[in-house]
Amino acid sequence: VEVHFEKDQGLFDFFEEPDVVKAVDGISIDIEENDVLALVGESGCGKSTLGKTTIGLQRPTGGTVRYRGQDIWAAKDQTGEIDIPFSEIRSSLQIIHQDPGSSLNPNQRIVDILAQPIKQTHPDIGLSERRERIYSLLERVGMNPAADFADRYPHQLSGGEQQRVALSRALLMNPDLILADEAISALDVSLRVEMMDLMLDLQADFDTSFVFISHDLSNARYFAEHGDGRIGVMYLGEIVEVGPAERLIEDPGHPYTNVLRWATPDLALHATGATEPPMRRIDIPDPVNPPSGCRFHTRCPEAREACRESCPTMDGERGAHRTACFRTQPDHEYWDSAPLDD
Ligand code: SF4
Ligand code: MG
Repeated sequence: VEVHFEKDQGLFDFFEEPDVVKAVDGISIDIEENDVLALVGESGCGKSTLGKTTIGLQRPTGGTVRYRGQDIWAAKDQTGEIDIPFSEIRSSLQIIHQDPGSSLNPNQRIVDILAQPIKQTHPDIGLSERRERIYSLLERVGMNPAADFADRYPHQLSGGEQQRVALSRALLMNPDLILADEAISALDVSLRVEMMDLMLDLQADFDTSFVFISHDLSNARYFAEHGDGRIGVMYLGEIVEVGPAERLIEDPGHPYTNVLRWATPDLALHATGATEPPMRRIDIPDPVNPPSGCRFHTRCPEAREACRESCPTMDGERGAHRTACFRTQPDHEYWDSAPLDD
């Protein structure tokens, strides 16, 4: 899947009357086959919007989202030459929500919930084979023995079990990509690592890509590191840094990534004797009226005059990762400009 939005090009907007919020701006990202990408950022930074747009659940007002080269919304609108029908795109790009309870029909037993996608995609499969498939998948996601769970209703399952059912349902479509949108955030802390390990196992077994959204850097890091993938850091609707998980955490190029690092207790940066970079302000700016220049300049510990005037693009490089910060561009006028003092 390729997602491309030019800066200030309409892009895709949230309509929050009476203002229009550009939830995601100037983003260009490719998700390859068998790829793992963890998107991290504070709530309201546009992670979910980017995720939902990537899988064709939310229509962008500009820019393009392509699946295997096919423009998703051209397929939906049936405009131009269509190589892949929208229905096929829809089933190839799946989602697991934060609250699985709300996405499972409360009046259906688990076995019936899971029978639906099979009936839809393989109407020729008979009842007994369908049951067999459902049971083996339930066992694969850790619901053992499946017979104990298959005839229950969603409310008779724990949050973790509901999430396993949601995962099974997504896998039944043989997806190319699963978007896990804060999929472990509502679970008990003790279950989170187990669920991430399960998703990563399934990612490898089923040859699917994962976009894992979390507001928590330690979870994003766990997922991306164990899945040998990338982390994308978002701030106020933009991806400000993206790169291989381990390198990005060890040596971030963007000051915001560094701020997130310091706010992550697992990384124990305070124990290293280093000093935490002081943020200029704590409050997150209004996304309806994002700051001029670099959107992070009102809070950035490293901000200079140049950051208020012009806007960094993802041209900066720090080893293997791409960064939208002037500090990663050695020749930028940033280096000659004065620190911001307001
Ligand atoms: Fe901070 Fe300037 Fe870099 Fe933006 S461009 S992150 S304000 S140093
Ligand atoms: Mg969200």
